[in-house]
Amino acid sequence: MIVVMKQHCSEEAIEHVMTYLKDHGLSGHLSQGVERTIIGVLGAVGVAGTRTTAGGIYPEISDALEGLPCVETVLPVSKPYKLASREFHPTDTIVEVPVACLPEGIVRIGDTPVVMMAGPCTVENEKQLMTTAEAVRKEGAVILRGGAFKPSTSPYGFRGLGEVGLKLLAKARDEFGLAVITEVMTPTDIAMVCEYADILQIGTRNMQNYMLLDEVGRTDKPVLLKRGMSATIEEWLLAAEYILSQGNSNVILCERGIRTFEKMTRNTMDISAIPVIKRVSHLPIISDPSQGTGHRDLVAAMSLASIAAGTDGLLIEVHPNPDEALKDGAQSLTLEQFKSLMPRVEAVAIAVGRGVVTG
Ligand code: PEP
Ligand code: MN
Repeated sequence: MIVVMKQHCSEEAIEHVMTYLKDHGLSGHLSQGVERTIIGVLGAVGVAGTRTTAGGIYPEISDALEGLPCVETVLPVSKPYKLASREFHPTDTIVEVPVACLPEGIVRIGDTPVVMMAGPCTVENEKQLMTTAEAVRKEGAVILRGGAFKPSTSPYGFRGLGEVGLKLLAKARDEFGLAVITEVMTPTDIAMVCEYADILQIGTRNMQNYMLLDEVGRTDKPVLLKRGMSATIEEWLLAAEYILSQGNSNVILCERGIRTFEKMTRNTMDISAIPVIKRVSHLPIISDPSQGTGHRDLVAAMSLASIAAGTDGLLIEVHPNPDEALKDGAQSLTLEQFKSLMPRVEAVAIAVGRGVVTG
């Protein structure tokens, strides 16, 4: 449920409600908008082996809250996801990521300017990564992508360099001032990946790996949650709820295309998911047109369409020599293609009142 406070209520009034909730074994999540303060209320969060009491809040508690002079009204949250819903948290969430190449030392994902993340699908070797990192940074990207642990559809495909790849990513961050995003596939690797990464990526195949979601939810690293390739938007938001409910509020959603009957593209980019997410959730959403299309000549169109539709950022695969890439070469832009995409991204972002963060 959500507690809607009266306009211009005092700090003490808010504190009073928060204390009341705590005393009754509930947690209050404060959302202070310009007009209104809203407190989202949750019961105890389900842990393995226990029944969740989330949503099972006794009517007498909601009646008592409604009786407080500072409270305007108490409303139920109609969605199955609570912490991820806009009802619960009306203001946009902005995820801050430390980055050396910006004067403030942080980049805000979910704020007005669009954020560019780019780099190879997979870290292959030092030269490939450094060349790509230097090139994307020069064009204004502030976040470097690169997989060290790769989910591979075939067990015979390249599975990534592991920790060696993470070390190379950290080296590229030090050299070019970029933040680093990389995938983590299993709870046992989380501590190691956290040592090197600024954002943990949860891949499409792991969107419903609930143990992994729980564990990244217990870290304080921003988490980029890819949409499962067959997941509905509701299932995706429930996956985000797993992370949020463990206390990590820095979740970024990523639309990366879904599986449909269409074969001309690797996946079908669900551009409409972007405004839907904006309507039902406060979480930032970015787009991955590389996995979304599977073809490098379609990446620019889907990048621009995503920005027009309201995406908060792009995650783009770039490779110095895509034809020789160990993974996803067909969907990786050349350095030149990335360079020519950037001014177009900027033009559309400006046209929709956003602009682009450039490092
Ligand atoms: C990737 O980003 O390279 C990747 C494997 O993505 P996804 O999980 O969306 O397939
Ligand atoms: Mn890839």
